[in-house]
Amino acid sequence: MYTDLMAKKILVLGGGGFIGGSLVKRLMKQGNFVRSVDLKAHEYGIEPNEMLIGDLSEYSFSEYALRLNDGSGFDEIYQLAADMGGAGYIFTGNNDANVMTNSISINVNLLRTLTKQPKSRLPKIFYSSSACIYPEEIQKTTNNSGLKESDAYPANPDSEYGWEKLFSERLFLAYSRNYGFKVRIARFHNIYGPFGTWAGGREKAPAAICRKIAQAANGDGIEIWGDGEQTRSFLFIDDCLDAVQKLMLSDYSQPINIGSEEMVSINNLVEIVARIANKEIGIRHTTGPLGVRGRNSNNDQARQHIGWDSSISLEEGMRRTYQWIEKQVRSV
Ligand code: NAD
Repeated sequence: MYTDLMAKKILVLGGGGFIGGSLVKRLMKQGNFVRSVDLKAHEYGIEPNEMLIGDLSEYSFSEYALRLNDGSGFDEIYQLAADMGGAGYIFTGNNDANVMTNSISINVNLLRTLTKQPKSRLPKIFYSSSACIYPEEIQKTTNNSGLKESDAYPANPDSEYGWEKLFSERLFLAYSRNYGFKVRIARFHNIYGPFGTWAGGREKAPAAICRKIAQAANGDGIEIWGDGEQTRSFLFIDDCLDAVQKLMLSDYSQPINIGSEEMVSINNLVEIVARIANKEIGIRHTTGPLGVRGRNSNNDQARQHIGWDSSISLEEGMRRTYQWIEKQVRSV
């Protein structure tokens, strides 16, 4: 229940997930009232002030989730709910129809519901887009010098997940123009850290590599999809949340990269984790869904407009992530 002593009334959609759950924890620590909405409670017990379990792709549930008992409105809404996963979920093509339908319905329902609220009470809205919106043809080599926000057009994302994100960016911007919504949009580049999905098929590369190495004996080999020379940059969750909060405080209303500029190949990432785990680990290259060949973030706009840059090195972030995943592996 909200009390006057709490700083802000905040709604986190997707608060049962990785980034949403970590955000809920932080916002509560800062003294806010937080309602979280998701298909499921957070797997590792992060508890908001209020948790609503339900399907935001259903319009009536979305309306209910946005209603406060005292008739007032939320100060801020963070829209992180989406049907998503790592390459094994997004790039096989097997989940495309569900990914697109579920995620677009959540966004449309949210925005349509908000048009019914009085203009004086409109919350500030954060939307989580993705680096997957960037065109495939500028990510065909491993030495990507960094994707700039302006590279998004002419558009050609390499997945339906990316197309839905790009369309939804435009949807949020259109509601901002036509209905006066205050919208902030981040393009996340591979966020990782403790409390993320580390098994089950939706996990991303950093978590999958940590799990495989935690399960491996010294001298074992682990499987890596492709030749492992594909490159990415990975942003630690604490840096990501700092950026989200700075963006929300800023008056910058265009989509902006929230990523790291520390690019690494997947083979190098395995070496880093093996060193952290203090194990000799070989690599067996196998066929599997890969995504683009090389991706990196360019943070010029973030430095300029929201005064943010990443600060936690990949080595340090992977150390904290490995320690947490290793503990999970040992406890099952
Ligand atoms: P996540 O899968 O852990 O969290 C998403 C949450 O949304 C899940 O808990 C899921 O149950 C919930 N959800 C899905 N469909 C729902 C529905 N119909 N109704 C209610 N809840 C629903 O993902 P995450 O890594 O925390 O990502 C959060 C957001 O950031 C997503 O929008 C994602 O696309 C975006 N993003 C993440 C990354 C990353 O590296 N993690 C990169 C780019 C963009």
